[in-house]
Amino acid sequence: MKRKSTQCYLGLGSNIGDLKQNIDVAIKKISLLEDTQLIKVASFYLTKAWGNTRQQDFINTVISIKTKLEPNALLLVLQNIENEMGRVREEKWGPRTIDIDILLYEDIVVKQPQLTIPHPYLTERSFVLVPLFELDKTLVIPNQGQLVHFVEGKSHDNDIITII
Ligand code: AMP
Repeated sequence: MKRKSTQCYLGLGSNIGDLKQNIDVAIKKISLLEDTQLIKVASFYLTKAWGNTRQQDFINTVISIKTKLEPNALLLVLQNIENEMGRVREEKWGPRTIDIDILLYEDIVVKQPQLTIPHPYLTERSFVLVPLFELDKTLVIPNQGQLVHFVEGKSHDNDIITII
């Protein structure tokens, strides 16, 4: 039997090199993954670095895909793309050529040492909330509630500089 395609949302960020090009290349690579289809791409947002704020601004966006890959298989192929694109894991929340997070995998909840879905910081980060809301205003975060409540419950002015 064929596995069914699952709707997923991925968060992408870059703050080293040509930020827009890095995001474009990562999206292209994701669209070429086996059993995976790119559905939508949100605007590109110039954002202040989060967590470790003494670094370059980021470009962030969110994409939706449909994939037949299971969550852990998806994580592996996304980490391959990060590695191919020269991501070096040195500092927590440090600079990165490309960061790709699995935000939502349909309404599935995963709590494993290497993978947490919904993404643990999804509801705290403007650079995720705002582009996600741009793609689908009716989204519900499993076990946490409607996306709109998190988007409206917080000011995004200090975190998001502009849409590119
Ligand atoms: P980061 O440095 O933010 O890219 O975090 C990378 C680590 O987060 C990896 O070791 C992943 O195994 C782990 N991780 C946990 N949940 C997720 C998720 N939903 N999406 C991507 N990485 C995740």
